Amino acid sequence: MDHHSTSKTPVTLLGLGDMGTALARAYLAAGHPLTVWNRTPGKAEALVREGARTADTAAGAVSVATGPVLLCLLDDASVDEVLAGAELNGKDLVNLTTGTPARARERARRSGERGARLLDGGIMAVPPMIGRPETGGYVFYSGDRELFERHREMLEVPAGAMFVGGDPGHAALYDVALLSAMTGMFAGIAHAFALVNEEKDLDRPRFARLLTDWLGAMAGSGLGMAAQLESGDYTEGVVSNLAMMTAGNRTLLDTAADQSVDPRLLTPYMELMRQRVAQGHGDEGLAGTVGLLGTG
Ligand code: NDP
Repeated sequence: MDHHSTSKTPVTLLGLGDMGTALARAYLAAGHPLTVWNRTPGKAEALVREGARTADTAAGAVSVATGPVLLCLLDDASVDEVLAGAELNGKDLVNLTTGTPARARERARRSGERGARLLDGGIMAVPPMIGRPETGGYVFYSGDRELFERHREMLEVPAGAMFVGGDPGHAALYDVALLSAMTGMFAGIAHAFALVNEEKDLDRPRFARLLTDWLGAMAGSGLGMAAQLESGDYTEGVVSNLAMMTAGNRTLLDTAADQSVDPRLLTPYMELMRQRVAQGHGDEGLAGTVGLLGTG
């Protein structure tokens, strides 16, 4: 491929793990000139055959970058390590590595001191969804809005692009909040399978479909919780009150005991529900448990 024959923004990509490789393929497919670097060199070989250029070092890749530099590495520590050795003056950095909001803010500040601009991203997609808009994958972005607007077309190549504010920590915060909710959901799924898994003649695929549909139907309760947190009235529109749910928790725990299942994935949240009822809020929904989690 002739890199000078396209008007598409040149992209530099640091990190060719599962996600980085998917991003690289999306940019090549869209005709962007692409320079890649990976700590372990072999991972770039196939992409070079597909049209990418490769750099020997991360610092070398950054120094010749004329467009945005994307980072998709393992974690915050790897990003800081890679950026430490590079000359960043005048560069536009887009970090797509999952990290903490605090580290994103700190990195944006330090990048600014070194003459670079930073957009922080949180990818809400798995690699097979990259470059396939119909799957609904997207990336949260926050930080430098001008940088986001300038490169928006390029950013939208692998997945949808959603800007969530000028605070560079907000993309990471939204990302981690959604991943945390997902972790709780996985815990619930594990407990549900533990309850039924030893049963004779269990139709696992059928049970899985029922479980998936039920979780989908219940997930919308987050919207009601948001309305209650906005208004401050946690009894607004309640159809399943906390006193009833807390009584029902006894049934959940008794069933776990009968099925010889450890209830430890459920009990921490049940304890919060119980606390809120004990505070005299049995007529509320679940919104009151949010405040009980604050440690500040
Ligand atoms: P992988 O484990 O497949 O790849 C990790 C990448 O980081 C590799 O390129 C690895 O290089 C590099 N790396 C690790 N440590 C260092 C270091 N100290 N210095 C330089 N490079 C380093 O992870 P993914 O590609 O799947 O994920 C990358 C990011 O994308 C993560 O932050 C992840 O949370 C996020 N993400 C991933 C999703 C997924 O489903 N895969 C979904 C959404 C976000 P090497 O090859 O040399 O080991």
